[in-house]
Amino acid sequence: MQESAKRVLITGAAGFLGSHLCDRFIKEGYRVVGMDNLITGDLENIQHLFKLEQFEFYHHDVSKFVFVPGKLDYILHFASPASPIDYLKIPIQTLKVGSLGTHNLLGLARVKNARILVASTSEVYGDPAVHPQTEDYWGNVNPVGPRGVYDEAKRFQEAITMAYHTYHGLETRIVRIFNTYGPRMRLNDGRVLPAFIGQALRGEDLTVFGDGSQTRSFCYVDDLIEGIYRLLHSDYANPVNIGNPQEITIKEFGDEILKLTGSSVKMVHKELPKDDPKQRQPDITLARKLLNWEPMVSRENGLKMTYEYFKGLSPEQLKKTAHRFD
Ligand code: UDP
Repeated sequence: MQESAKRVLITGAAGFLGSHLCDRFIKEGYRVVGMDNLITGDLENIQHLFKLEQFEFYHHDVSKFVFVPGKLDYILHFASPASPIDYLKIPIQTLKVGSLGTHNLLGLARVKNARILVASTSEVYGDPAVHPQTEDYWGNVNPVGPRGVYDEAKRFQEAITMAYHTYHGLETRIVRIFNTYGPRMRLNDGRVLPAFIGQALRGEDLTVFGDGSQTRSFCYVDDLIEGIYRLLHSDYANPVNIGNPQEITIKEFGDEILKLTGSSVKMVHKELPKDDPKQRQPDITLARKLLNWEPMVSRENGLKMTYEYFKGLSPEQLKKTAHRFD
């Protein structure tokens, strides 16, 4: 590895998206510094990287002062709990990593003269009154609801990132990530895909919240990573939606999971969580134009690859992922 190789800091490196980003940047010839406090991340996701000379890892909480010796060319801030179950369990950490953590990393980016990309979310649109969601929609968020800790932290994150860009001239990028799935999702994070696949694997009924008519649009992880990689290397500082516009109701999604797993369990209805968005679909016109990007993986293929991953977990791993917070 050449000394001149670019060096990137990835926070949330042991998480679902962070670990896939580490893989991608290693593949592209970067030196990767991973950082994670392992509250929701899992070293299992990046254990294959520890043997590499171009990978290093810091066990650190970015809500506290962040120090990384040596040069940094890029920072990708992906540390955050990211599922409704996690926000309920660790609301203060969720607020801190999006606000204090982002502030620390913006400061680090300034000192290192690095370009920083922050992971924002479709949650900034809340329960959207505009459909599909375009980047110029300001959103419909309940600041004091259960999702407020995540949504408002991410909205603050966007605001402070733009402020560093305009006031300090820092090179910044903001990606608004829509529902994403794939290998390494945590089985017990409460999200609909691991919930349904886990239930099907255990022979339990699928828990559909509400009547299942609410919609989501699911993007396969490889597509998302490609979009982020292109955005980082673009020269565009305003937020960009990255997601798959193929929209589906949760009830239809349950049917697809039953077909995929060949399971004969039923769907049972549970109460709809408070402030659960009724519909969500990214408008990706901007990403298409700016990054020449659009999703390539169909839901059928993406779900197959994801199911293979979950089926391939050892009983030990299944137990570990299934009981993280129990
Ligand atoms: N959902 C469900 N059953 C579950 C988990 C989730 O019906 O066991 C629903 C949830 O109410 C929401 C959708 O699936 O409408 C997506 O939920 P998820 O937590 O995956 O992500 P969100 O997009 O809500 O952040």
